[in-house]
Amino acid sequence: MEEIVEPDVRPCCNKEYGCSETVDYTRKNDHEENCTHAPCACPLPACNFVCSCEQLSLHFSSKHWDSGRRFRYNTPLSVSLGMNKQFLVLQAEEDGILFLLNKSVENIGNIAMITCIAPSSSKVYYLYDLVSGKGMSSLRLKSLTENFPGRVEGFPPMDFLLIPFRFLGPAGEINLEVCIWNSTELGSDCP
Ligand SMILES: [Zn+2]
Ligand SMILES: [Zn+2]
Repeated sequence: MEEIVEPDVRPCCNKEYGCSETVDYTRKNDHEENCTHAPCACPLPACNFVCSCEQLSLHFSSKHWDSGRRFRYNTPLSVSLGMNKQFLVLQAEEDGILFLLNKSVENIGNIAMITCIAPSSSKVYYLYDLVSGKGMSSLRLKSLTENFPGRVEGFPPMDFLLIPFRFLGPAGEINLEVCIWNSTELGSDCP
């Protein structure tokens, strides 16, 4: 007698975050590892909110409106990050998308980079520019945002700007000019 094996089908593990795909259990990793509905976590350490990235934008602007900086795409923004601050949340005025300016202190200076709060599988990247200046000197990083579903821990393999200690302000803060483009064609220079 021939046995018919029913495919083991169930909803994607990100169903509660808006994914309507069903996955065949044996091919589970094909979809779930690349699912664009993977949840994102609120970047503030005191908050444990986890949801889809669209909802996270609303959550942040309603619950933490005073904890981040709002910016406009394609327009430079001056930011200052205190000595003990590890990140700053940047929220786009146009579409609410959340970015993180990440900072860490290393032996020879501070490093800074920008990530977009989105599932790691997202294929949307934003061009950005970080400039740190001191007198006649300036350092500049132009790169693409990596996608990270929350706060960045450790030292992920991505581009960063190394800011020597002598570029720091009197209280150990870093002062940066940040520009994020929402179109790669516009990415030649900030006005
Ligand atoms: Zn899914
Ligand atoms: Zn939160």
